[in-house]
Amino acid sequence: MGTVFIGTGMAAFGKAVASEYVVGSARSMHAAEDLLRRATAPDGADLAMPRAMVVMAHADDETIALGARIGRFHEAHFIHVTDGAPRNEEDSRTHGFSFLADYRQAREFELTEMFARAGLDRVSRNCLNHPDQEASLNLVEITRELIRHIKHHEPEVIFTHPYEGGHPDHDACAFAVHHAVGLHRAEGGRRPLILEASFYNAGPREGGSSMFLDVAMTMPSVTYDLSPADRKRKHALLACFATQRATLKEFSNDREQYRIAPMYDFTRPPHQGRVHYDHYPWGMTSERFCELATRAEIRFNEGNGAV
Ligand SMILES: [Zn+2]
Repeated sequence: MGTVFIGTGMAAFGKAVASEYVVGSARSMHAAEDLLRRATAPDGADLAMPRAMVVMAHADDETIALGARIGRFHEAHFIHVTDGAPRNEEDSRTHGFSFLADYRQAREFELTEMFARAGLDRVSRNCLNHPDQEASLNLVEITRELIRHIKHHEPEVIFTHPYEGGHPDHDACAFAVHHAVGLHRAEGGRRPLILEASFYNAGPREGGSSMFLDVAMTMPSVTYDLSPADRKRKHALLACFATQRATLKEFSNDREQYRIAPMYDFTRPPHQGRVHYDHYPWGMTSERFCELATRAEIRFNEGNGAV
């Protein structure tokens, strides 16, 4: 398995505030990179796995993100923010379900099956059950819920989505994780390191799936080229999500990429031009997302949002 480390942008961390924000209780970039390496090591690697929490928007995002190494996550805590079933029922009908509740249940069964196939059938997990496509309408509430889970599980690292306009629920997840971590820290808690997996975006690199959007700061990242055996294993896990087959075939299955999350400004769009979801009827635009993020941050600043 090829492992390539790209970019260790130490020069980008001139400001102490950025450093604290990014490395958290790892205290140094060197220690943060060690956590990144251990948390993303290949299945079967002889490296101590840090206490991890995985916060993803939808059932299947965890497999897209970590499929080739998910066997190492048997002691992690998984949180899915949405139920994977948009309320407009278009998805349910497309997938042959007359009732939204049946589609929601099918998605939960698929996730359960994936965990079982990965050998994680007893893994700790919760679904916050927000409706699919509506996570950005509940930023404050989701942040609050995540703070509770962070307090309870005390993760050293949290895996989540990057903020890059791919899907509104992914952006909402990124917002909630970054703010939950910040607010937890403000209350005196230990700040876990936020790690992100690559998904999809409409950024200038036109990377489609599995390419991070460029951000102002160069973040330490790691890319794993998947061996044929890895790919086969990941393919088998993704196949559990039968209702999502059409979407999942768009994802590259030849590498997995992670990086230390940069500092984001969620009140601005992640890149110039229209973001990916501005092209789709998913009930959200980048402009509206930024307004909702601004409003949520005002509530946090007033002290009545999260504690
Ligand atoms: Zn997703």
